[in-house]
Amino acid sequence: MENCIFCKIARGEIPSQKVYEDDEILVFKDINPLTKIHLLCIPKEHFKTVAELDDARAALLGRALQKIGAHASAWGLADGYRLVMNQGEAAGQSVPHLHIHILGGEPLSWEK
Ligand code: AMP
Repeated sequence: MENCIFCKIARGEIPSQKVYEDDEILVFKDINPLTKIHLLCIPKEHFKTVAELDDARAALLGRALQKIGAHASAWGLADGYRLVMNQGEAAGQSVPHLHIHILGGEPLSWEK
């Protein structure tokens, strides 16, 4: 998607603080962190929500979760972390490119 900010980050057209990258996903620091550690994991492929998952995208999302699980400790999240995916504007999704918020680095109450 030409004008999608996360597609631009994935293409390297907008700078980001990357913490992990492979052929199909990118993990970078959220520009407006809500917790001491706040990362975003995106598939490089553009789609908006889980409503658009076909089998290939579902497998891609599974691999993204697998990578998060494998690398979380190295990212400073050994004590635990929260994964959040806002789906649609009413849920607070402001960027229409699927992303997983990775929140941690401090104790998180459920209300937070
Ligand atoms: P959401 O509101 O769930 O769509 O989350 C979008 C997130 O993207 C927010 O937490 C923003 O702070 C973050 N964000 C927006 N633009 C950038 C950017 N250029 N670099 C890093 N994070 C960004």
